[in-house]
Amino acid sequence: MKKGVRFKILVGIGVLLVILLIALLSIPKIILVDNDVTVNLEEDYIEPGYKAKVLWFDITNKVTVTNNIDTNVVGNYEVEYKIDLLFDIVKKRSVIVIETIPPEITLVGEESVYVCPQSIYEEEGYEAIDNYDGDVTDKVTLDVKDDMITYIVVDSSNNETSKTRTIIHEDNVAPNLELKGNESITLTLGSGYSDPGYTATDNCLGDITDKVVVEGSVNTNAVGTYTITHKVSDGVNETSKTRTIHVINGIATLGTENAPGVIYLTFDDGPSNSYTRIVLDTLKKYNVKATFFLVPKNASLYYLIKEEYDSGHSLGIHSMSHTYSVVYASDDNLYSDIKAVNEVIKNVTGSYTYLYRYPGGSSNTVSKNYSTGIMSRSASVIHEMGYHYFDWNISSGDADGRNHTSDEIANNVIRNLSKSRYNVVLMHDTHEFTAYAVEKIILYALENGYTFAPITMNTREVHHSIAN
Ligand SMILES: [Zn+2]
Repeated sequence: MKKGVRFKILVGIGVLLVILLIALLSIPKIILVDNDVTVNLEEDYIEPGYKAKVLWFDITNKVTVTNNIDTNVVGNYEVEYKIDLLFDIVKKRSVIVIETIPPEITLVGEESVYVCPQSIYEEEGYEAIDNYDGDVTDKVTLDVKDDMITYIVVDSSNNETSKTRTIIHEDNVAPNLELKGNESITLTLGSGYSDPGYTATDNCLGDITDKVVVEGSVNTNAVGTYTITHKVSDGVNETSKTRTIHVINGIATLGTENAPGVIYLTFDDGPSNSYTRIVLDTLKKYNVKATFFLVPKNASLYYLIKEEYDSGHSLGIHSMSHTYSVVYASDDNLYSDIKAVNEVIKNVTGSYTYLYRYPGGSSNTVSKNYSTGIMSRSASVIHEMGYHYFDWNISSGDADGRNHTSDEIANNVIRNLSKSRYNVVLMHDTHEFTAYAVEKIILYALENGYTFAPITMNTREVHHSIAN
């Protein structure tokens, strides 16, 4: 080939390349700021920006932008940037709408569960809720190990959450021990005793009655209080219960008048609607005779006065109104109060009584407010009127206006009992705690060699010092 021809070809190629380069540079270009964009659910999509140019001319305003983004719906979207020419220039941006909040798992039952040894935990249930997917409970997977269950759930945006439940293979519930029959039993000397029995169950072991250990014994030939202890263990926890057996010297025999160790139980202010009944039944159970200093205000309870009398208890006069301002207003008021009560007693029982107890006791000072010297004057003539009056040397403390337990009332009496004198005990059959203290006092007394008697005209009077 000639030199001139080769040169022409090279020039031709060169010209073509220049034309091609110019053509390429003349194609409009769209330039995006950033490429793919991620948007959080329900947040606005913000356009990161774009430019368009051809050669050195800015033609950004020729670009039309369209998108189908819905930021309320998780997914992949596109933004399209287009310049409409003879042929379209198009550029696309990918936008991903995501949510990042993992589901929440809620366990039914405790996060730490006790299960009997050798037992398998029975799933109590769970629930998984996702802010976007809703209920995803059915997507929860369980990783079950011996002592731990892991609950895992992943939502549609790949957010994962997990929760664990710890399984403790241990019996943490004490056995249940039930004594059949009463927890307190009273026997008379020489009678036989057989334990009424018991049952024991355990949450893990079932019936464990045969594992109950019984400690203690009862000697029914010796008066006293016996304690039988029942214990049962499930290997970890122990339960125990006691039964108290009172062996008493038969029913009470009547105490010798004024003898050391005699107890005169006296009940003031009754009869009362509910509590006199309890007192009478308890006295009858142990054949104990007592004394009732009456406030017979309520005629519908006179049948109780009759029952007291018919049961061999002594009746005494206390007051018709028990209102100090009335009873102690004058000597006449005092004597007519005494007589009014005695008329009721006569009407109900057929006989008068000559046993008397001053409202507030003979040492009261409240009467000073109404009549100075009324206690001294009346006490000096009351014997001439035929009456014997009785204060007390043991107070049960049941009339201080406060609430008490029957144990307190019984203990107030018991700790003051003495075998070196006769004991006149002040109580009121107008309180529930007093009514239920009576049996405790009687049991203690019978186990400890005391006797009971009703006050009679032969009983030596117990007097406080007159203070008005
Ligand atoms: Zn009284």
